[in-house]
Amino acid sequence: MAKISIENLRHSYLPFPDPAREDQYVLKKLSIDWQDGGAYALLGPSGCGKTTLLNLISGLLIPTEGTMKFDGRDVTRATPEQRNIAQVFQFPVIYDTMTVFDNLAFPLRNRGVSEAEIAPRVKEIAEMLDLSRTLYNRASGLTADGKQKISLGRGLVRSDVAAIMFDEPLTVIDPHLKWQLRSKLKELHQRTKRTMIYVTHDQTEALTFADQVVVMNNGEIVQQGTPVELFERPHHTFVGHFIGSPGMNVLPCEIKGGKTFYAGQMIKAQNEKALKADGKFEIGVRPEFVTLAKTGIAADVVKVSDAGRFRIIETISGGNTIRLLLAEDVSVPSGQVKLAFDPEHTQIYQNGWLAGAAA
Ligand code: ATP
Repeated sequence: MAKISIENLRHSYLPFPDPAREDQYVLKKLSIDWQDGGAYALLGPSGCGKTTLLNLISGLLIPTEGTMKFDGRDVTRATPEQRNIAQVFQFPVIYDTMTVFDNLAFPLRNRGVSEAEIAPRVKEIAEMLDLSRTLYNRASGLTADGKQKISLGRGLVRSDVAAIMFDEPLTVIDPHLKWQLRSKLKELHQRTKRTMIYVTHDQTEALTFADQVVVMNNGEIVQQGTPVELFERPHHTFVGHFIGSPGMNVLPCEIKGGKTFYAGQMIKAQNEKALKADGKFEIGVRPEFVTLAKTGIAADVVKVSDAGRFRIIETISGGNTIRLLLAEDVSVPSGQVKLAFDPEHTQIYQNGWLAGAAA
């Protein structure tokens, strides 16, 4: 297992990109360190560059600029074989005519591991993945999730890999089995302590699997943090929108004489001291931190939707939509209401970035 360090990485699919033209690069100056044994998720919308980054780490692509190190060793130009990465793809990569055992043994046999060592290792992995009962059946008879379990097992079976990378591995799995495999993967990480990198555009998958989630947008890493950090302190309004359901409310605000105003009414924001000058900015406050109050911001309730344990109340205030959550047992108001924002969870953003946050 290895610590992975990425320094000033840039990537363009053009043969001769113009370094001054940022639009020609699908990844724009990434620098990040991933610790040995960590569980990471790369989360972002389609086209933001997740697969490109994964292929740069595994060595299927060589970056246009920048350096990649495994445990301090420069691997920027190393081949996939030299990097020793296991990769699990969207669609199961298995041999239908072989048994489950032989599929799991394949990566070990390929590297000349003796049969005496292979048997216990394959049985251990099969047991972790609940494949023991079908170990000597042909893989062709298995369901899609059974086949994808074999793919996961092939990624896990070698103990000498630098990292295991998963590229949207639950895409072909039935929705009701997804959570089972997701928790299985989390358990496997806890048992094996391998460095795992999990690529997905699904926030639930990322937040349940990873200790650290790396949010990407438009070829950049916007924030890396624990699920709680991403929820409580989004470094960018994009993270606020992308994580959470519904996402963070983002509203125009004004700072005058060091005080924050929304729609002419003074409010308190957690980081207002970070701004050195007056001006127009944005505030971000999640629906979880907006409450109904006796006095406060005037708003009109326009829609109520049921979301299981709570309801989502959509209001309009000063021409902006503000959403809040109400518990099932609280009566839903209609018409005009007053709203309050929790000052500890109301943040100011400047050009999309959290004011005062370390870069
Ligand atoms: P998805 O979830 O849809 O796979 P992604 O976040 O993994 O998206 P990438 O597949 O890395 O994103 O794509 C990033 C950008 O690079 C996209 O604009 C895509 O069109 C472009 N791209 C990807 N592969 C190539 C290629 N081989 N040649 C040219 N452009 C490419």
